[in-house]
Amino acid sequence: MQENKSLFEPYAWQDVQWRQMTERFADGRLAHAYLMRGAAGIGKLDFAQAFGRYVLCQDKADGRSCGHCRSCQLNLAGTHPDFLLIEPESSGKGIRVDQIRALIEFSAKTAQQGGYRVVVLSPAESMNTNAANALLKCLEEPGDNTLLMLVSHQISAILPTIRSRCQLLAFDKPDEQDALNWLMPLCDDAEQAQNLLTLSGGCPLGARTYLEDGLEKQLARMQKDLGAVTRGEVAPVEVALAWQDFEPVIVLEWLAGWSAEMAGYVSTSDDACIRSQSMAKMLSYIAKKAGAKRLLVFHAWLLQQKSRLSGQVNLNRQLLMEAVLFRWLQLTMKQG
Ligand SMILES: [Zn+2]
Repeated sequence: MQENKSLFEPYAWQDVQWRQMTERFADGRLAHAYLMRGAAGIGKLDFAQAFGRYVLCQDKADGRSCGHCRSCQLNLAGTHPDFLLIEPESSGKGIRVDQIRALIEFSAKTAQQGGYRVVVLSPAESMNTNAANALLKCLEEPGDNTLLMLVSHQISAILPTIRSRCQLLAFDKPDEQDALNWLMPLCDDAEQAQNLLTLSGGCPLGARTYLEDGLEKQLARMQKDLGAVTRGEVAPVEVALAWQDFEPVIVLEWLAGWSAEMAGYVSTSDDACIRSQSMAKMLSYIAKKAGAKRLLVFHAWLLQQKSRLSGQVNLNRQLLMEAVLFRWLQLTMKQG
């Protein structure tokens, strides 16, 4: 059980939601469908899956799965016939209508182990229109004892008709200390953990992804290039070309994070607003030049670009990066 604990248990910062859900289950008050919302990278999908395994466990006690019954073993092996996980088939793709048809077929059957059928779908905003409409049908006439858990990092992108048919379960970012406690054992030292957490905007699983993907090097390159663009040593077009191997979502996320830090700094004059220590000098310089309004416009634009990315197939990375860098450069230019 110990080594597989994470498959069956919530993260330390999800105790409240876990207690809510296990109590509802115990009282027979579980809804048919839940929409689990919150920032990306804080473990909502893991929570949904762990709770699904809990519901299916045949020997649960004290709000925890047993980890060794037949159901838990099947879940450990990823072969439980009453558990279905729906995700995009590859990154950058959406969830398709035939995946939702498979879900409908699945939830119409009687559970093989005689209890619930559990479906986890993530991220819900990646469903295309056909898929979302097909899911709506399923939400209108849910099968008996079917538990559907939709995970969403961006709830505004989900059809209101879907939202209104689900119970909302909100997840906040963890306290910094909880996040660091979890992240620290994966890192070389406390400084690295703190840097990665800051970089990920306080989302510990996001920080782990940065660590695993070696994104610290990318960060160093981005910082260097952004500095050069700001000083006018290199043209945005050239840097955009060099950034083609970067994941656009990450570039947009990081820049959005920095622009929010800068906007906070400008409006409060509090140095603590700038958390990215390695960039503090550059960010405070740009912040003063740009002013809060321009920074907020830039921030909103970055988030808008990011939300457009999901499900986009023929993305012109070069053009997007050029636009990003051009806007970055404009932050320090005279307005007029
Ligand atoms: Zn069990």
